[in-house]
Amino acid sequence: MIKFNLKCERGHEFDSWFGSNEDYEKLRRRGLISCVVCGSCEITKAIMAPRVAGEIEAPDLREKPLVDDVGTKFPEEARKMHYGEAPVRPIMGEAKIEEARALLEEGVPVLPMGIKPKQVN
Ligand SMILES: [Zn+2]
Repeated sequence: MIKFNLKCERGHEFDSWFGSNEDYEKLRRRGLISCVVCGSCEITKAIMAPRVAGEIEAPDLREKPLVDDVGTKFPEEARKMHYGEAPVRPIMGEAKIEEARALLEEGVPVLPMGIKPKQVN
């Protein structure tokens, strides 16, 4: 299920759940989605917010072009961002398994990406 925030031509915003993006497109093209306020079928997507119950919200670092490599300071930086002590930005770095687990337990969204291979000369 995907939740879309929708907006009608008159700027009314509402949200609705769809099975997939394709479902949404099909319904929209047939004029089966209408504004809850004015009934207009001129609907556009405002923001897409896919969400799965229980899923940890983690930024997808692979798609962000600018990732701040903080190296071994990763657990420290991730925690600072989580508690608002540092600007929120995509970061990457190294964390021991126990550190990563501790972060997740604190509710800090980290995305384990495996072990960085050591550089071979
Ligand atoms: Zn409307």
